Amino acid sequence: MPAKYTFFTPLELKPMGWLRRQLRLQADGLCGNLDRVWPDVRDSAWFGGEREGWERAPYWLDGFVPMAYLLEDEELIARANRCIDQILERQQPDGWICPVPPEQRRGYDLWAVLLIGKVLTHCYSCTRDERIPGALYRMMKNLHGQLRDGTVSLTRWGAYRWYEGFVALRLLRERGAEAWMDDLARLLAGGGMDYRRVEALWERPLNKWTFDTHIVNLCEMLRCEPLTCDMLGQEDRGLAEHFYRRLREFNGTAVGTFTGDECLSGISPTQGTELCAVVELMDSMEQLYAYTGNRVWAERLERVAFNALPAALTEDMWAHQYVQMVNQIDCTPFPGKSYFRTNNSEAHRYGLEPHFGCCTANFGQGWPKLALSAFLRAPDGVLGALPLPSRLCTEWKGTPVRITLTTDYPFRNHMHYRVEADGDTDMRLHVRIPSFARNLRVNGWDHGRRGELVRNGFRQGVTELEIDFDVDTVLETRPHGLRCLRRGSLVFSLPVEAECTRVEYVKHGVERKYPYCDYDYRGISDWNLAFAGREFRVEECGVSDIPFSQSHPPLRIHANLCHINWGLADGYETVCAPVPLSRRPLDAPTDRLLIPYGCARLRMTELPLV
Ligand SMILES: [Zn+2]
Repeated sequence: MPAKYTFFTPLELKPMGWLRRQLRLQADGLCGNLDRVWPDVRDSAWFGGEREGWERAPYWLDGFVPMAYLLEDEELIARANRCIDQILERQQPDGWICPVPPEQRRGYDLWAVLLIGKVLTHCYSCTRDERIPGALYRMMKNLHGQLRDGTVSLTRWGAYRWYEGFVALRLLRERGAEAWMDDLARLLAGGGMDYRRVEALWERPLNKWTFDTHIVNLCEMLRCEPLTCDMLGQEDRGLAEHFYRRLREFNGTAVGTFTGDECLSGISPTQGTELCAVVELMDSMEQLYAYTGNRVWAERLERVAFNALPAALTEDMWAHQYVQMVNQIDCTPFPGKSYFRTNNSEAHRYGLEPHFGCCTANFGQGWPKLALSAFLRAPDGVLGALPLPSRLCTEWKGTPVRITLTTDYPFRNHMHYRVEADGDTDMRLHVRIPSFARNLRVNGWDHGRRGELVRNGFRQGVTELEIDFDVDTVLETRPHGLRCLRRGSLVFSLPVEAECTRVEYVKHGVERKYPYCDYDYRGISDWNLAFAGREFRVEECGVSDIPFSQSHPPLRIHANLCHINWGLADGYETVCAPVPLSRRPLDAPTDRLLIPYGCARLRMTELPLV
């Protein structure tokens, strides 16, 4: 079954407005400078150095390269191309591309082979560098031969992420199918993990580290079906929907992610979610929406992207958390035993590489890939998939068409599409309308239809389309009798004021120094509050240069809250109890301001309603 929609390249689709500013922050922050400040990328074995030669440099390139091309930044593009050159130049005559000598191939975890294949395929969509398909052909054919003769084998991470190899294989097959490609696809599928065998383990936390409940494996696994059905000629059995619902039922959070620190941690607002899981979940949902055309995936994606992603990074995007908590009242390392099930005591600190460095390298793919999901190519034209400010330059049956979407969505619910066609065209423009939209208006007229707007064809010249809708502010029910405040795709939190301290030091030869230092966020304001009513007043402020700014949030919501006796987690001074001790109001309600979850570094999101 082929995909319903396909992706445009960074050569055709560019971010604008707040999304471009967000990408610029990323380019000026850690992702845009990682090859200058972080040894595992700067001195990576992939580039001829002595440091990590497995997943870290490929992870970083997966975000850095599309970011450079989306921003059309010549300096970043030059650095991206130099990195790609260095990888391609080190490919061995037999096709092997990873930076380990022949005698170490046997024990090498093939995850890196699958990953670099995916990353180089994405690089090709940016650069159209014709060396890349050739390198991928030699690399994948070499993998096929070595898997066949037993030189290498699919174990550990490679066995759990086997389908990622299909990204490169799909490109190669489009350019000329050969029998070994199908055989390699069958070898990977046959040797890789079948997640139906382990799904029963997801229903309660195991309190130990396993591949079967590893949060990043599971977030990546959701895209297994879209990748494999096409490659193996199978029918879509709806496995992603089944897995997603099961994960959400037992581990879901208020912002659309699953708890995992770093294995599934159950339903709790105080367990963590790893940042790698956030960006990999987004990638899976982007692919699932494009593949199935089912808009529930787009709405789930918005919920993760507009809340969990910005929340895990500082406003300047130089520091990030390994894990974020939905109710997070303090982000300083635990003095004793870690609160997390398998992570160390600093996994929730904002820093350069808290806990592990995978997220340091990997988080950069989040915003660029989201930007590349704004418009999708449909069989009969173009789909406005995510209402993100963007400009698409494409053509339809030979007629150049440019579509510009001006909007501050999700902070405002107004979209201005400007379609400029160089000739009359029968290109259709579909626009996805979120299910929570009310009073839909198109060019000022009431419009009854929900789900999707379709415009059939465009005359030569400029056509403009103004779309407006209203969104309700609602208290959503969460487990344990808690509630969270939602407005469209944005979740709102009570911000907890923090005393923020820079922490500079050197550990294992890796320097933390401003702006790539760690930060301690010590909570200093009250957080033991409950919703005291269902009346909310929305205040719209402008979207600032930092879209997810705590001091200048684009939206604020006035809510009546009162204090309750909440209590602390057993044995921890800096973690609130997962569920409040009492829900009895201790005082009269007062007006408090809630801000978007993504703007609040310390926050309370799930509160009871008294
Ligand atoms: Zn990670």
